Amino acid sequence: MKKTTGQNRAITSTWRPATQAIRGGTWRSEHGETSEALFLSSGFTYDDAETVAARFAGEAEGMTYSRLQNPTVQMLEERIALMEGAEACRAQATGMAAMTTALLCQLEQGDHVVAARAAFGSCRWLTDNLLPKWGITTTTIDSRDNDAWKAAIQPNTKVFFFETPANPTMDIVDMAYVCGLAKEHGITTVVDNAFATSVLQRPMDYGADVVAYSATKLMDGQGRVLAGAVCGTQKWIDEVLLPFQRNTGPNISPFNAWVVHKGLETLELRAMRQSENALKVGKFLEGRVPTILHPGLASHPQHNLAMSQMKACGPIFSFVLDGGRKQAHQLLNALQLIDISNNIGDARSLMCHPASSTHHGMGPEGREAMGVGEGMIRINVGLEDPQDLIDDLDQALKVAGL
Ligand SMILES: *Cc1c(COP(=O)(O)O)cnc(C)c1O
Repeated sequence: MKKTTGQNRAITSTWRPATQAIRGGTWRSEHGETSEALFLSSGFTYDDAETVAARFAGEAEGMTYSRLQNPTVQMLEERIALMEGAEACRAQATGMAAMTTALLCQLEQGDHVVAARAAFGSCRWLTDNLLPKWGITTTTIDSRDNDAWKAAIQPNTKVFFFETPANPTMDIVDMAYVCGLAKEHGITTVVDNAFATSVLQRPMDYGADVVAYSATKLMDGQGRVLAGAVCGTQKWIDEVLLPFQRNTGPNISPFNAWVVHKGLETLELRAMRQSENALKVGKFLEGRVPTILHPGLASHPQHNLAMSQMKACGPIFSFVLDGGRKQAHQLLNALQLIDISNNIGDARSLMCHPASSTHHGMGPEGREAMGVGEGMIRINVGLEDPQDLIDDLDQALKVAGL
């Protein structure tokens, strides 16, 4: 009675993304459950010793230990890969586990990395602190500048690492150019696609080699679990990533993987509606605040590039107040509906002040170089009625003197 609707890759790989999000990678047990089963098990048992031997020798398929394989996790990996248009995927415990694994599994002492200057604070910590400490040199550049990517290449450059749109400055990377340049030089591109997800932007369509995720954000989308994923070719995953992952153990819990499954079922709906809402809120704020950094608005200097790579603008954007930290905090403190929170991708609208939260650890000089000023505010627009969000912002802006 086992109907394996998600297991025949020849069939499932032709499905469109919305179908993949609901059905890609589904395995059903002999009970025929509708929703994906949660295999909350660390280990597995065997009918006989020969089966164990065959599985450990790689001669037979099957589970051995949840750091190596787990059915709930494997379903999620198959689904994310199908949605991404990637050959393979491995889920990770968090977004930072995904970034760290994607970089460390392929780098060694003496290598060089070119990374985008505008990036999530912990991603910058990896390139600024961890990699150099281990003998891997890094150059951080203005990722909007195609010539800067080219100029930064050294004979030992092994990886390009960037986000687009970038957190929180909303810098956009010209993926076709940068990935093409990397290919010409035998460099592997690692793209952190947390702000968009495969529903809004598929970096591999522009030549990216590796796509890494914080699935904590839009994929879960309801603020429940930390999760991550790394996608690549089957060969790269098997030969480069897996030896690292299996022996260092940044694995996701099957429970968290199951929660992300539930998130993926509504990802497209949420991402599209939240993008629509973000556009409405952005149009309200434009003209009301001195500067707005919103890839969906024509005022964004890279609007055309962003919209040529993305199906919609996404739920996140930033804006800048002239009154620095004081006015930014005043605005946040006056909110009555929107929460003060440094999370993003959630169905709830959330706002934060990056300089005193997500990007605090970089210090004033690091923030200045990245373009994160004291007056900058980042917003994640959720699924509430956008008019209620606009009303809340309107009253809070008045309290802050705007
Ligand atoms: C949140 C985030 C991360 C880190 O993900 P965690 O799941 O919090 O570990 C990495 N990159 C970007 C762009 C993010 O927004």
